[in-house]
Amino acid sequence: MSNSARRGLMFVLSSPSGAGKSTLARRLMQQNTDMVLSISATTRAPRPGEADGREYHFVDHDRFEKMIDEGALLEWARVFDNYYGTPRAPVEGALASGKDVLFDVDWQGARALRGAAPEDVVSVFILPPDMVELERRLHTRAQDSEAIIARRMAKSADEIRHWDEYDFVLVNRDVDASAEDLQRILTVERGRRSRQSWLSEFVTALLKGH
Ligand code: 5GP
Repeated sequence: MSNSARRGLMFVLSSPSGAGKSTLARRLMQQNTDMVLSISATTRAPRPGEADGREYHFVDHDRFEKMIDEGALLEWARVFDNYYGTPRAPVEGALASGKDVLFDVDWQGARALRGAAPEDVVSVFILPPDMVELERRLHTRAQDSEAIIARRMAKSADEIRHWDEYDFVLVNRDVDASAEDLQRILTVERGRRSRQSWLSEFVTALLKGH
């Protein structure tokens, strides 16, 4: 019995900034070596330590608008004063070859991806244990100015209000436990009948007595 014809899934993670999503995403990538991370395109400037093609594809406004016009993005949105979007080709290629794709996007991105590919998306929302902890984590990162942190806290509340649009919700009290929960969700979703492209042929042969 081969599952080589399994269709990949789109594993969409959202959370307010500072809820531990990046750590959980990194763990998933380490544990699932076949998994592909969707690298978004953005017009925002790289932060210190960010590299083009690793955190994002950093592009200018003209290039981004050209990508929109060409249909090269699966979804896109304006967040704060910048554009963010998901390049289409790497996602479609990965899914067709049975690889899962991990997305780290906000609720707008998750909603757009669900709209673009409802059968392929499995979405998980990660909640912080409380808002004090969230603010503390934003300060610890210390990459952003106070004004930006305040703006991110306001956006966090807005983000959290969309929790009930997701298939699964995790409260990240303990990162190890959350990483295990996330892995379990992924493993079970991989086995969903709709993703087992090989099954109908298998059952036909089964019934013929082969
Ligand atoms: P940041 O500038 O902190 O990296 O990201 C700002 C926001 O944009 C975050 O909420 C992030 O999840 C969201 N984002 C990142 N990539 C995408 C994308 O491809 N599409 C959409 N819609 N949002 C994205």
